[in-house]
Amino acid sequence: MSSVRPLAILGGTFDPIHHGHLRAAWEAAEALEAEVRLVPARTPPHRPAPVADAAGRVALLRAALAGQDRLTIDTRELDRDGPSYSVDTLASLRADIGPERPLVLLVGADAFAGLASWHLWRELFTFAHVGVLNRPGVTHTAPPELADFIAGRRSERVHGAAGTVIDIAITPLDIAATAIREAFAAGSEPRFLLPSACFDDESLLAPYRALGR
Ligand code: ATP
Repeated sequence: MSSVRPLAILGGTFDPIHHGHLRAAWEAAEALEAEVRLVPARTPPHRPAPVADAAGRVALLRAALAGQDRLTIDTRELDRDGPSYSVDTLASLRADIGPERPLVLLVGADAFAGLASWHLWRELFTFAHVGVLNRPGVTHTAPPELADFIAGRRSERVHGAAGTVIDIAITPLDIAATAIREAFAAGSEPRFLLPSACFDDESLLAPYRALGR
């Protein structure tokens, strides 16, 4: 393990945040001995607009993270105009932390399989390592372009500031925001898939409940 505590980020729409995200981020923090920040996306490229607006998704994140300080929120993508490209986020984080501190972009296995379609994807590795989190039901393998690029970049641990791919074994939790939105749309209450604190304030989940009306 590097002597400097790595910084890891988990980006996503978090529409809404759920225990799959939270447990993945928590276990990555433990495995990498890292500070982990959740980075909500404002305008995710290649995706339909989120159900909840940015302020609503951040309010849910705050409720979900209350009571601990290992996981924090970084809202820099919300403060920036235009689409949220990970390469820009990593460049901005790298500028903040300097050239030495290890930086890790955490992605679920589903997101990793699609990495070669991301804007300037090869440059991600000049700024950060990529930490791949297993996700139940994900059977995609890396397409040849990505497989070729990462061959020889695999690492068991954080070594150096950037440039490798690290598999991070986490407790598999088959929870997805899509299924949670579908549950709300069907008029049911998807309790225990996301923190109970998210249900405490009636207004927090109102955009999702409205899907069912
Ligand atoms: P949706 O169903 O709307 O696509 P999601 O549940 O996949 O949402 P995102 O906000 O898109 O959530 O995910 C952010 C990141 O967290 C992605 O890298 C994704 O792969 C990862 N992730 C989400 N859920 C899990 C999970 N249950 N286990 C591991 N990684 C996850």
